[in-house]
This record gives sequence, structure tokens and C-alpha cells, in this order.
Amino acid sequence: MNKRWTIDKIRTFVNNNSESTLLSTEYHGFSQKLLFKCACGNNFEKTFTKFNKSNQRKCDTCQPPKASRGQEQ
Ligand SMILES: [Zn+2]
Repeated sequence: MNKRWTIDKIRTFVNNNSESTLLSTEYHGFSQKLLFKCACGNNFEKTFTKFNKSNQRKCDTCQPPKASRGQEQ
């Protein structure tokens, strides 16, 4: 199933499912890095795929990246 995300839908999703805020104002596709503001005040960049599917919804300080390789990307 292919859900078509728009920047507005993503912003709503971010507001509803995380403590972070979406700073980016345009969405060009799943490979684009979006700019978020973490609840701690740090800004961080992440693709929406990682934010959504990999549950990476905070900055690297609050939620350090997992060391696992391979599947991740
Ligand atoms: Zn943080």
C-alpha cells in the first residue's frame, strides 16, 4: 500500500506521534531529509521513512542511532 504523504500530513503526524516539531515546509519524496526540532531544542535532519518506520523521532542526543548495520538505511 502506498500512502501519499504531503508536508501537511507529515506535520500532523509528527505533532500527533512525537514530541518533535517539523520545521521543513516542503516534501519532495521519501528520500528527502526533513528538518525537525526535537523537544530538547536541538534541530535534526532525518528522512520521513526513518522517522516513521524506524521510530527515530528524536535528535541523536536524545535517541542515539543504533549501532546495527545492514537493514538500516
Ligand atoms: Zn533531543
